Amino acid sequence: MTKKEKRKRKKQDRGIVDFMMVANHFFHALKEWILEMDDPRNPSYTTYTQTDLTYMAILKNVCGQHSMREMEENFNKETCIATLRLMSGNQNLEEMPHYDTLNYYLEKLSPDCLSGLRKKMVTSLIRGKQFNRGRMLGKYWRIILDGTGLFYFKEKHCDNCLCVTRKTDDGKAMKLYYHKVLEAKIVLNDNVVISLGTEFIENEKEDISKQDCEINAAKRLLKKIKKDYKRLPICVQGDALYATEPFMNLCRKKYHWEYLFTQKNTRQKKLGEGFEWIKSGEDTTRKKGLCKEKGTAYYANHVEELAEKEEVMNVLEYEYETKDKEGKKQIIRFQWISSLEVTNRNLEEIILAGRGRWKIENEGFNNQKNGIYRIEHLNSKNSNAMKNHYLLTQISDILMQLYLAWNPYIKELKQSIKNTSSGLLESFRGLTVTQEDVSYINRYTTVYLE
Ligand SMILES: [Zn+2]
Repeated sequence: MTKKEKRKRKKQDRGIVDFMMVANHFFHALKEWILEMDDPRNPSYTTYTQTDLTYMAILKNVCGQHSMREMEENFNKETCIATLRLMSGNQNLEEMPHYDTLNYYLEKLSPDCLSGLRKKMVTSLIRGKQFNRGRMLGKYWRIILDGTGLFYFKEKHCDNCLCVTRKTDDGKAMKLYYHKVLEAKIVLNDNVVISLGTEFIENEKEDISKQDCEINAAKRLLKKIKKDYKRLPICVQGDALYATEPFMNLCRKKYHWEYLFTQKNTRQKKLGEGFEWIKSGEDTTRKKGLCKEKGTAYYANHVEELAEKEEVMNVLEYEYETKDKEGKKQIIRFQWISSLEVTNRNLEEIILAGRGRWKIENEGFNNQKNGIYRIEHLNSKNSNAMKNHYLLTQISDILMQLYLAWNPYIKELKQSIKNTSSGLLESFRGLTVTQEDVSYINRYTTVYLE
């Protein structure tokens, strides 16, 4: 593509108008859903509707505004006010809400409201059937558990802070307070992996010896997911932390889900020692030339006896040869443990699903931390507002990922996510959304995703 062609193509990119079209296509009732949330404010003092505030927060995220102050400066334009008015449907909107107004609202709003909003969005994507091909083995929705640290403080910030003692460079012990979050992401397809559930990992009591940990948070999170998505066929994925018998039991026996966990020798010792034996055993199947690396896989079903466990255990290993930076031969090896019975036919798909989880963990949070959202930036010191800001980022990310998956210009112009979000900001600030745009936003009925 020549430079001139690129400029021409870029002009067709309508930025914020297309973003609104995609959002409207997937979630016709988004506005109504936001208004259905329990408004915590005293109605006689409110100027802004819940849609004004929620859409402003969504725009803050998708336009890559990292701080509340930055947002306030950049959004202070007539065009922005007019577009927000269109999005929120509040005809009386005359000014952009002040960031204190947004924070005050988020301090009071129950995080359950935003979780509920996300549930409606995810449910409608699943029911829409557009992503049915993304299911594993044609049946299971992959749910990936992934935890990360969010905010770090030198002084105790609230009663729910987690605490760790770190050694500083001069050898002194220093206490560090922090907040952690556990995410459950649902894989809709290779490019669209969105948040389905969030559990904040925090101390219930001040007693720091009883720190909440990821596995307990995961148990709470699974319980919520079962409640919200009763009949959804699920395959839970996670790292070796979860590859323990009680947790596997919980997934399979209690919730009737399948699982696929990374296996490490430290977690299932007996199994780790036995893996070499499994490879040479007569019940083991070996298959060569798999995946794009043409590697080799081994699998054996029902090795629970060997692992001295009762829970169903099917194991598989995938390895391939590559060269490191110095050109030395190197073997890359993955091992998994699963409730799904492995066959020659489903082997490659299970391997790809297992490796995909690794990719998502590394890329997903990294994008959210260092890419456009900066989820580690503290928008409010209030812990309730902090949670709501986080949930709003996940909701924005659902809209952003759908927009990115639809956007034909990004692929053609090989545009980065960062530039796409600057493009959204530019169009939000500069573009007057016309009546013609409005009918385009509402009329568009077929949206093809990559
Ligand atoms: Zn805290």
